Amino acid sequence: MLKNKTVLVTGASRGIGRATALLLAEHGARIIANYNQSEKEVDALLSELHDKGREGVKVRADVSNEQEVKAMFVEVRRLGGIDVLVNNAGVVSNNLLLMTSSGEFQKVVDTNNRGAFLCMQHAARIMTKHGHGKIVNLSSIVGRNGNSGQVAYAGSKAFIIGMTKAAARELGPAGITVNAVAPGLIDTDMTRDLRDDFKVKLLNNVALGRIGTSVDVARVVLFLSTELSDYVSGQVIGVDGCQIM
Ligand code: NAP
Repeated sequence: MLKNKTVLVTGASRGIGRATALLLAEHGARIIANYNQSEKEVDALLSELHDKGREGVKVRADVSNEQEVKAMFVEVRRLGGIDVLVNNAGVVSNNLLLMTSSGEFQKVVDTNNRGAFLCMQHAARIMTKHGHGKIVNLSSIVGRNGNSGQVAYAGSKAFIIGMTKAAARELGPAGITVNAVAPGLIDTDMTRDLRDDFKVKLLNNVALGRIGTSVDVARVVLFLSTELSDYVSGQVIGVDGCQIM
């Protein structure tokens, strides 16, 4: 389904980004795997891809850094451009409103919002020239529903939803779809340190009765990255085991 398509996945070194890179590659995509700090992990991903006969290269960039994103897209253009952008890189902040420092808030916004915005802008420049493209942004269930103790993070994920909808309207006429995925509780490094009693409480509200996996999310990203979703844009698709509807 993604034969001859090039996909840039930000934050591909771990978690949902890694699973997405693997799954999209299994469906024929050439992967450009962005990472920031986890070089060993991204190298392991590339070895796995190459062992499976798939194509993948790594590009390091801190997505919150404008110059580094610019340089990453110089490399993307050198590699022939992209057909799909998966804006996945993100950081969490688990703090109450009154405990969140402005520095912590800034880091969340810079990574989750400024990063996604910059990548979308660069990708859209390439895609509008080609007259097609797909952008998938990682939001979160907390961007739709809020969550006590995640004011900065939930706000950043709500921003992703607004940005997705606005960009979908702007870029639709150029043949580009823009959608968001809103995962619930997914088993990755990001959630591994959450207290067990907190996870149990959350899972009590998940009709499907289990924590999600990175592959659960990657499968929806796959749908939004292929022609199967050609008439789907501006949507936010929950991947939360029926926690909210
Ligand atoms: P994760 O396991 O903590 O992985 C985060 C990834 O983001 C890593 O590959 C990391 O790369 C990358 N990253 C972080 N800051 C970056 C930066 N400044 N520049 C480039 N890459 C950066 O997280 P995850 O759980 O897979 O989450 C992935 C996305 O899904 C995030 O946007 C998150 O908000 C969203 N999400 C997750 C859950 C969940 O329950 N896990 C739920 C809803 C939404 P390096 O390690 O190389 O720095």
